[in-house]
Amino acid sequence: MRKLVTSLITVGFLIFVHSTQAGQLALVIDDFGYRPVEEHKVIALPNTISIAVLPDAPYSRTMATLAHQAGHEVLIHLPMAPMSKQPLEINTLTPEMSQTQVQSIIEHAIRQVPYAVGLNNHMGSRMTSSLPAMQKVMNVLNHHQLYFLDSVTIGNTQAVNAARGTSVEVLKRNVFLDDTQDEADIRYQFQRAIKLAQRNGSAIAIGHPHPTTVKVLQQLLTTLPPDIHLVKLSQLLPHSPTAVQQQRPSLLVLGANCPRIDPLRQGKPAEGIMIIYTALRDSQFVRDVKALF
Ligand SMILES: [Zn+2]
Repeated sequence: MRKLVTSLITVGFLIFVHSTQAGQLALVIDDFGYRPVEEHKVIALPNTISIAVLPDAPYSRTMATLAHQAGHEVLIHLPMAPMSKQPLEINTLTPEMSQTQVQSIIEHAIRQVPYAVGLNNHMGSRMTSSLPAMQKVMNVLNHHQLYFLDSVTIGNTQAVNAARGTSVEVLKRNVFLDDTQDEADIRYQFQRAIKLAQRNGSAIAIGHPHPTTVKVLQQLLTTLPPDIHLVKLSQLLPHSPTAVQQQRPSLLVLGANCPRIDPLRQGKPAEGIMIIYTALRDSQFVRDVKALF
């Protein structure tokens, strides 16, 4: 009985700790390069927002440079072939392209979007669902030390599989903020992203430089819950040095033998609790709790 009560108190405490951890929220605004008026407004938002720029748009270089100068992280927003028939950007990657063609298009994009540290896909349901095609992309990103943000425009995206065996780090989008331009919808998606970050430790939301999205961000970014930290995308990379600094102090002070808690940032809540449980099982805190009985 005593053991059961001790266990319940410990688990209750762990759930409390888990629920009060800060969540890291990364926002990315992509499709940059066509709408300078709205894009200037996005650049004026907190510079923790990451900016993804289409390589062959009229204002690509200007906006990438301005975003960088304002302290934003810059990504290449690389057009990739979709399943559906629709107008395509020039230099859209297709699965039929050779390794040399893929390399030449990505290297052109690198020249067009200065200061980029990562790349995410514009459209791309057909391209990203092809493993051999994405392996060609990862080979080039590996060479240029760019990370990949999977916009997840199709369920069976092969980006993670394609990056195996390379040093390319892959992140995945959780929420699209503005599939519609309806203000209430965008607010709802923003709240979804916050809840995901609180529940899972982190979340990535992608939006676009539409007037409504900019308006909602201007309003909601000033009223973020205290347990939500806006972070640059690269701070969520598994091996980011900054990510290590972002480890939760509320957990680290509890035991000298805490394991690395990186899995929590991407992981499932149950897994996270088990990791913390294992770390705390033999800690002084739990010994103190047990001593009460
Ligand atoms: Zn796009």
